Amino acid sequence: MLRYTEFGLSHQEVPNESAICIYISGCPNRCRNCHYPELQEWLNGDPLRSQLSNIIDFYYSQATCVCFLGEGDCSQESKNELSDYAKYITARGLRVCLYSGRDVSIEEWMNCFDYVKLGSYKEEQGDLHSKTTNQRFFQKKKGVFVDRTELFW
Ligand code: SF4
Repeated sequence: MLRYTEFGLSHQEVPNESAICIYISGCPNRCRNCHYPELQEWLNGDPLRSQLSNIIDFYYSQATCVCFLGEGDCSQESKNELSDYAKYITARGLRVCLYSGRDVSIEEWMNCFDYVKLGSYKEEQGDLHSKTTNQRFFQKKKGVFVDRTELFW
């Protein structure tokens, strides 16, 4: 079961969106100089399932999107839980974004998101705001994910 450490409204994580950002713990990636080490602990935070609707209700009038920062332990169970949330959020009329810290290509299960960020944090290359970053930010347009990392530059 996924847990979250904090949430808040932000205009930074998803360009041109007012996003409810929810930080998910249990990250198995071990990026050097991780910017948020608390997310590496599986049991940090509170269970998300019982609180997600309340979190969305709290910001609903100001939000256009929900952004999950992290995907738990990246197990199939965690992916299923996030997929369920993405469908629920879409049904409520908001767009939905996933931040993954894995160095992978877009995976099939990610198709339920409108935005996907991929890639581990490599200090020497910088984060999404750096033009040398290894991380990529994709936006789905007409069912196809398009690399829109330049929106952060
Ligand atoms: S993906 Fe993010 S939270 Fe996970 S280890 Fe890397 S920087 Fe830290």
